[in-house]
Amino acid sequence: MASNAYDLINPSTGAVFQTVELASVEQTDEAIGRAKAAFPGWRDLAPATRAGLLLDFAAAVGNQLEDLAQLEVRNAGHTIGNARWEAGNVAAVLRYYAAAPERLFGRQIPVPGGLNVTFREPLGVVGIIVPWNFPMPIAAWGFAPALAAGNTVVLKPAELTPLTALRLAELAHSVGIPSDVFQVLPGAGQVVGQRFVTHPDVRKVVFTGSTAVGKQIATGCADQVKRFTLELGGKNANIVFADADIEKAAATAPYGVFDNAGQDCCARSRILVQRSVYDRFLELLEPAVKGVRVEEPLSETAEMGPLISAAQRTRVESYVDSSRVAFTGSCPDGDGFWFPPTVLLSESDDPAWNQEVFGPVVSVRPFETEAEAIALANDTEYGLSGSIWTRDVGRALRVSRGVEAGNLSVNSHSAVRYWTPFGGFKQSGLGRELGPDALDGFTEVKNVFISTEE
Ligand code: NAD
Repeated sequence: MASNAYDLINPSTGAVFQTVELASVEQTDEAIGRAKAAFPGWRDLAPATRAGLLLDFAAAVGNQLEDLAQLEVRNAGHTIGNARWEAGNVAAVLRYYAAAPERLFGRQIPVPGGLNVTFREPLGVVGIIVPWNFPMPIAAWGFAPALAAGNTVVLKPAELTPLTALRLAELAHSVGIPSDVFQVLPGAGQVVGQRFVTHPDVRKVVFTGSTAVGKQIATGCADQVKRFTLELGGKNANIVFADADIEKAAATAPYGVFDNAGQDCCARSRILVQRSVYDRFLELLEPAVKGVRVEEPLSETAEMGPLISAAQRTRVESYVDSSRVAFTGSCPDGDGFWFPPTVLLSESDDPAWNQEVFGPVVSVRPFETEAEAIALANDTEYGLSGSIWTRDVGRALRVSRGVEAGNLSVNSHSAVRYWTPFGGFKQSGLGRELGPDALDGFTEVKNVFISTEE
């Protein structure tokens, strides 16, 4: 076994099923060098040619959807239904950004004595650092717009979950995207990820992960005034007003937080319920939580699988103060990293109320007024997502404007839509991914004046 081999563990069995080789600093430097050399050729491709390659890449992902999904079930413990959605999301994101090369418009701005135009130039080599919770979509949200805008990409998956990213790179190369244009380097955060930050030829770092590491990335990038995008943690509120469809709000609340076993930066892990319907809501929530199907992730009926690792399960457990548990759902016994959906009745002093648990644990609290609900929702350093349940349109808009978060849904817990912008307020991040906005983060605006004077 090579010295840099890293064991991959199937979260639903706890057993090692494969090893991968982690890249060294030297290998990272070589990859960055190749990406730099490949940049002019990729940048200068005719827009329609780059678009065509991205469409072919999307089609290849579509053809391998089931294989990619099965790989993610094994490596990350995602339910097969979720994993299929995630692979499909990669194809959709590629198709969406395949339209970009031919539409990277600049502007013509009136000036005296000549013509003034702007160009949107690619940055060069982009380093993308991906967490383990959604290995496929989060990788694609970075590489698809980066490649579309004419950049070359070096991507580091999380140590725990490198397999689908490696497969995606193979698929890209199989359709003719040059191997140096899109490289995937499994490796340690402090080795490969850190090198993306310090290497002068990496012109931008796209980071998704914890707020603690995100701050280090920001500090490191400052040294070279390197561009960066951060997608970090969340402590998101699901606010249920008395005038809402309480049955629907209670029936859907578990899926707003327990999807992907709660390992989701958008998990609605605080439920705020207006006092007059609080008891009724809890009565309805209990059967909804007990009805969540926590099963072997390959089961077609599984709605929730295991946590990613033994360490994550220990961390999640540490947030559950038994005196605050209202009720729990069930989960399989066995060697996997299982944890049942858990509902807490929390107060402000509860760490589970204040911190991102990143597991299937939700805190419920009553509130009296609209102003109190907004204040409670905003009482966090984070600002990523949230949900608002009300039949009052004015209230829906007032509260949507009042909650300090980048992605809100009214009377739903909408998943991230790839054609709309996604990102955080406050310490949940910096910059926007997806939608039309993402391309701004992968280009620099260049202004050119052409004199028309004789
Ligand atoms: P993490 O910050 O530990 O790791 C994320 C990635 O950063 C991994 O690839 C890791 O290897 C790398 N890394 C670690 N240390 C590094 C360093 N010093 N320099 C460069 N790279 C380094 O986070 P995690 O535990 O893998 O993921 C969970 C966290 O990610 C949660 O806090 C969650 O909220 C957040 N997250 C946010 C979003 C979002 O879009 N806002 C999405 C998913 C996950």
